[in-house]
Amino acid sequence: MKPPKFAYHAPATVEEALGLLAEHGDDAKVLAGGQSLMPLLSLRLARPEALIDLGGIASLSHIGVDDDVVTIGAMVTERDAERSDIVTRHLPLLAEALPHIGHVAIRNRGTVGGSIVHADAAAEIPAVMVALDASVTVVGPGGERTISAADLFQGHYTTAIEDDEILVDVRIPVTPPSTGSAFVEVARRHGDFALVGVAATVAIDGGLASDCRITLSGVGDRPIRATEAEAALVGKALSDETIALAASAAVAGLHPSSDVHGSATYRKHLAGVLVARALTTAAARATASQGATR
Ligand SMILES: Cc1cc2nc3c(=O)[nH]c(=O)nc-3n(C[C@H](O)[C@H](O)[C@H](O)COP(=O)(O)OP(=O)(O)OC[C@H]3O[C@@H](n4cnc5c(N)ncnc54)[C@H](O)[C@@H]3O)c2cc1C
Repeated sequence: MKPPKFAYHAPATVEEALGLLAEHGDDAKVLAGGQSLMPLLSLRLARPEALIDLGGIASLSHIGVDDDVVTIGAMVTERDAERSDIVTRHLPLLAEALPHIGHVAIRNRGTVGGSIVHADAAAEIPAVMVALDASVTVVGPGGERTISAADLFQGHYTTAIEDDEILVDVRIPVTPPSTGSAFVEVARRHGDFALVGVAATVAIDGGLASDCRITLSGVGDRPIRATEAEAALVGKALSDETIALAASAAVAGLHPSSDVHGSATYRKHLAGVLVARALTTAAARATASQGATR
């Protein structure tokens, strides 16, 4: 099927895009890479009368690092983020997660901002944003505001960003060199959305975990931070035993759905296995980086 008829707008600035959004209201949709929106139009699950393409707004395609914060513009493609030296050096968790998104052809068009606003609960970028305590900058008729990743994702395909707002960038604290991180997932086929994904970081001080983050995707209606499991690990040595206990704590309260790709029981079991795998890898990387800096 082809999309229904729509008017195409190509603003050159964010202000112009906001003006068009205000003018067309609920009849308009912002277009980024189109990798999620265009299929919805072709299936006629969305019927906007106007598309406002952000592709011509140069200011939204910048990646930079300043004051220990990496800023990624909303229109940076998933592929450009994956190939960015700044991301590789300062955000190894994101660098490891990005190649799991679809295929290269998808990542050449799909954008970091589009993935965040689309808010698929199995998507890689939202899970990494939650794990790294990122925040997003949005602009709308009321001006600019910042939303933390913890408050951003509100349910399946739902964020705290209003329809008349545009996401302009995401800000992510630099991962200290002594912190180890790991992103692991299982998908039925290469390029499919994951059944379950886990993003983890571990900082080790004097042989004990001083900070730990665990975020799961694909097991709820949004990325889920396993705060009880994180707290259980802080102050402890990361052994097979403590990691196994943390993995059990991380999945204890999960209620994933069953679908044609996997049952709830399988997803929950898989989540525990992947949490343990991610923590083990992150801890080994933290230990190795300490050896390297000594
Ligand atoms: C075959 C296939 C496989 C895929 N596999 C994966 C996968 O494994 N993992 C994964 O995470 N994703 C996957 N995707 C989705 C891909 O990552 C998309 O690129 C992404 O979800 C949406 O980004 P986009 O730039 O294409 O956004 P678009 O499709 O253009 O937009 C998506 C939504 O976000 C809104 N939006 C976009 N940008 C902004 C902005 N700056 N401000 C406000 N609203 C905005 C749009 O209005 C729309 O509602 C896959 C897609 C395909 C087609």
